[in-house]
Amino acid sequence: MPLQNLTVLGSTGSIGLSTLDVVRRHPDRYRIVALCAHRQLDRLYAQCLEFRPSHAVVGDAGLAAELATRLAGAGLSTRVAHGPQALVDMATLPEVDAVMAAIVGAAGLPSALAAARAGKKVLLANKEALVMAGPIFMAAVRDSGATLLPIDSEHNAIFQSLPHDYRGDLAASGVHSLLLTASGGPFRCTPLDALAGVTPDEACAHPNWSMGRKISVDSATMMNKGLEVIEAHWLFNVPPAQIEVVIHPQSVIHSLVRYVDGSVLAQLGNPDMRTPIAHALAYPQRIDAGVAPLDLFAVASLHFERPDLQRFPCLALAYRALRAGGSAPAILNAANEIAVQAFLDGAIAFGDIPRVIARALDRLPAGPLHSLDEVLAADGAAREIARQTIAALPA
Ligand code: NAD
Ligand code: MG
Repeated sequence: MPLQNLTVLGSTGSIGLSTLDVVRRHPDRYRIVALCAHRQLDRLYAQCLEFRPSHAVVGDAGLAAELATRLAGAGLSTRVAHGPQALVDMATLPEVDAVMAAIVGAAGLPSALAAARAGKKVLLANKEALVMAGPIFMAAVRDSGATLLPIDSEHNAIFQSLPHDYRGDLAASGVHSLLLTASGGPFRCTPLDALAGVTPDEACAHPNWSMGRKISVDSATMMNKGLEVIEAHWLFNVPPAQIEVVIHPQSVIHSLVRYVDGSVLAQLGNPDMRTPIAHALAYPQRIDAGVAPLDLFAVASLHFERPDLQRFPCLALAYRALRAGGSAPAILNAANEIAVQAFLDGAIAFGDIPRVIARALDRLPAGPLHSLDEVLAADGAAREIARQTIAALPA
């Protein structure tokens, strides 16, 4: 197996840490060429000492100067750059084979798309990129011959449960539909009238997964599952009516594929992102991920329920945006990012999140989506409407 050269975008985040943990176990297989983070300098510095990348990227010039000084002091010749263009540069370096796209939110789109356009093996954790720019992203993958491997656990499970030669044609592969599992998050059983008053820390206390704060809030509203429905639509070329969401609180079955003959194939495992990360890193081989074997006797029983759209209006908003098409998913995503940040900052209540998103979808017509510029224009307009909506909310 030749050594694979990697760029990790978002190396200091939850997915970034899990990625480096898998890489650490296989120094004979993977070499880190570039580590990219935003503001967590101490963590990035420690990662540079351990993995000795050729390049490191941070958010601004001040942090870059500080990191460069510390690395030089430690005797490392790592080149330090900063800003969005540097992320794109790291995603497209000629010596890089594979790019882990694990920046959170819309900020991760340009670099993930650049990796796809450059024909890299793209390990896609940044679901927002596909939600915002699905048709453009998938066309880039097709045109460049890039390999797109989903890191999101549900999509990785579906990828593993589809036929190996699946080429985006459900009928030709005898697939009836996809079943996306969802844990239901921390508020699955919270009385509806108590939901409005939940705090950011309560929303981020996910029962099964340890993740960054934005995706944790998305899991609590189930917007995360809504984004994943849109992600599945683009990844596997499946119409919305053939993507069903199933609440499965144990998070042991990571998703399922229903075939026309009555078979249902699933991928199971402990809820640990190192499994899909190791799967994608080594694909089509298998490597140790450091994940404990699944103990079915400890799991004992699996439970399923239908999502309640009154409790989780964000899930219905995501289906609405997907059906509307064009720029609507980008509008949904942008308004959600603004609303989630406002909730995390204590500026709005949990129950206001879907109100802010619905308002952006109501106010902005879904336009066509042919270029990254159109995506970013829709994103910017939706952020503006979301901010206005928040400012006008009763205190
Ligand atoms: P996180 O908040 O823990 O980490 C985010 C990373 O992005 C950090 O390294 C941060 O430095 C970087 N970043 C943030 N803003 C940036 C910017 N403007 N420019 C450059 N870098 C920036 O998030 P996470 O939980 O690791 O999630 C990352 C992505 O993976 C998200 O899109 C999320 O939806 C997806 N994902 C995460 C999980 C999980 O278990 N954590 C599971 C499935 C999918
Ligand atoms: Mg997921």
